[in-house]
Amino acid sequence: MVKPRANSWLDDLVAYVPGRYKGGENAAPARLASNETPLGPSPKAVEAARKAAVELHRYADGGANDLRDALSTHYNLEKSQIICGTGSDEILQLIAQAYAAPGDEIIHTCFGFMVYGIAARRVGARPVVAEEKNYTADVDAILAAVTDKTRVVFLANPNNPTGTILHQAEIERLHLALPEHVVLVIDGAYAEYVSLEDYDGGLKLAQTATNVIMTRTFSKIYGLAAERVGWAYGPQEIIDVLNKIRGPFNVTGIGQAAAIASLHDQNWMMQARKHNDHWRPWLENQLRQLHLSPIPSEGNFILVAFPETPGQTAGDANAYLTSKGFLLRHLPSMGLNHCLRLSVGSDEDNHGVIKALQDFLSTSL
Ligand SMILES: *Cc1c(COP(=O)(O)O)cnc(C)c1O
Repeated sequence: MVKPRANSWLDDLVAYVPGRYKGGENAAPARLASNETPLGPSPKAVEAARKAAVELHRYADGGANDLRDALSTHYNLEKSQIICGTGSDEILQLIAQAYAAPGDEIIHTCFGFMVYGIAARRVGARPVVAEEKNYTADVDAILAAVTDKTRVVFLANPNNPTGTILHQAEIERLHLALPEHVVLVIDGAYAEYVSLEDYDGGLKLAQTATNVIMTRTFSKIYGLAAERVGWAYGPQEIIDVLNKIRGPFNVTGIGQAAAIASLHDQNWMMQARKHNDHWRPWLENQLRQLHLSPIPSEGNFILVAFPETPGQTAGDANAYLTSKGFLLRHLPSMGLNHCLRLSVGSDEDNHGVIKALQDFLSTSL
């Protein structure tokens, strides 16, 4: 019997594993596994989504014109060079699809965002992994990985799951040394959380270079993860190509309405940032006092390294925390078996998870 045979390069693809949102005996666990904002969406976004719901029978604006207008005004960008996507995920996939083919290479760093390797394999390209230094992207390692088959470099800045960041000078150095035909993707999913002086999330390069595209999302600080709204800015030629291959109605009507309302409620965004600015250092400090090793983060999450001591490992801690109703992210498949990633949560969840870790460490001694 002959069965349909999927493209052979899909054999090596391991599907994305999302953070858990159920687990343990707790019916309503603290969800600290997916870098969602503990503040939730802006009430204005919820209201806009409600209003848009009566139009569920209509195809939404396939060009996301009002949303692109709002983004163009807010960031002072050319509207025609903005593309919206079903989350920034879709845009990452589109870039791989448009610029790489079977046999080509796509570079990402070893602890880079999990989607990059999938985006490469989906189109038959080979993901090429550049080593990091201190859990941080290493420009020299990325450049050393470039060959004449390289088509795309994916770089999240700050990176997820590590939280680490490259300074602007390093990003510029990377861009300058990359061959001009290689697309450099600067993924700024956590851009709004960053407090570094010289940080612009890739904006300047996306405006001036011919091969740089910057991606952003409404999923993280704006709290619209369920609606799947992302966007990107880059050279007109790249955006035109991506527009040809995106889904014609890729952003839902509710998503567009909620995103516009979110963008107009900068006050809400600033509150989320303030919350993070307060709690991330607090959590880092508490973790250090527990003799754990938080990696310095610029995002709304912290990667925490655990000892290898049996009974005290990241895996043991993960099982314990889950049983107590705290869901964190364990990423053994990424070579981070010794770490858990903790999203900054609500006041209550932050205190709760530290208390639970204290209990775990004192009972496992
Ligand atoms: C969450 C995340 C995204 C994707 O978010 P969308 O919900 O698809 O917009 C992209 N890049 C990084 C680094 C992320 O952590």
